[in-house]
Amino acid sequence: MIIRLKKDITLEEVSKLKSFFKDHKCQIKDASSDDVKVFGIIGDTSSIMESDVYAYKGVETITRIQVPYKKASKLIHPKPTVIDVNGVKIGGGNFVVMAGPCSVENRDQIIAVAESVKASGAQILRGGAYKPRTSPYAFQGLELEGLDLLLEAKKATGLPIVTEIQSEDSIPRFVRDVDIIQVGARNMQNFHLLKALGKIDKPILLKRGMSATVEEWLMAAEYILAGGNNKVILCERGIRTFEKYTRNTLDLSAVLAVRELSHLPVIVDPSHSSGRWSMVPDLSKAALAVGSDGLIIEVHNDPEKALCDGAQSLKPEKFDSLMTDLRKIAPIVGKKL
Ligand code: PEP
Ligand code: MN
Repeated sequence: MIIRLKKDITLEEVSKLKSFFKDHKCQIKDASSDDVKVFGIIGDTSSIMESDVYAYKGVETITRIQVPYKKASKLIHPKPTVIDVNGVKIGGGNFVVMAGPCSVENRDQIIAVAESVKASGAQILRGGAYKPRTSPYAFQGLELEGLDLLLEAKKATGLPIVTEIQSEDSIPRFVRDVDIIQVGARNMQNFHLLKALGKIDKPILLKRGMSATVEEWLMAAEYILAGGNNKVILCERGIRTFEKYTRNTLDLSAVLAVRELSHLPVIVDPSHSSGRWSMVPDLSKAALAVGSDGLIIEVHNDPEKALCDGAQSLKPEKFDSLMTDLRKIAPIVGKKL
């Protein structure tokens, strides 16, 4: 951290600032010249909030050298993290496709979709049991029954399951039965939940908040990593912009940013980013081309009658032809599918 001080800073203010950094176990190196007063702060500055430093009167500007997300950062952990989910490896050159309905609706639906996505080559089954809906009057998910049905689908197909958690109370059940615990966009900064998920040994799929910067997203991952759970998979699911034609705006550059900044695997959700099934295949191919580690795609056997997100759900036949295309593209971009 480098701090530029105001020219007229008093000796008393300088000494207050010095003791602030001493309290944070950091050393100060005075790098001032005749024209500028500059302090270099040496040591672990990750617990120092910039706003706390700006509270000192004589501080003009602060420049961070270290990233605030130490454990998520590539600087500290240069090798890509590979997460093993019941034998399915996520990260490190593999391309993993998770697919299934937005919500688990009934036994026939989830078993039929699970069997069809498996036949097409999906490696993981998705399906929401607890649904975060904008309206309290909309379908909220089958909750515990939904989890039971997901387990039946897992038994029938052998596919590991990914499903969204909404509350800390559900953690024991999810730890027992779920293979990847999804944290939805709306809960990306539910720090209490993130801290609790940091204490378990289970892969976490952390979706990007709809208005979160890449740094905020990595800081959310840091909460989980800081607790000791190093199995975090990031998911870019589109961000809110001024554009209304699509449900969100898929930020593919964020995938590249994460690959530059972090060792964590990052996948893409083309369904929630576009809100339109017709865009899902091409966005999926683009996600593979920019080097994401996989996809999470909504597939429904009867999208017109879906209880949630039918407009962005692929029919099984479309998903099947997408998988065929992805298998052709993967070796060209150096991914294993
Ligand atoms: C979902 O995956 O079903 C979902 C609700 O996604 P998001 O949290 O990205 O909106
Ligand atoms: Mn959905």
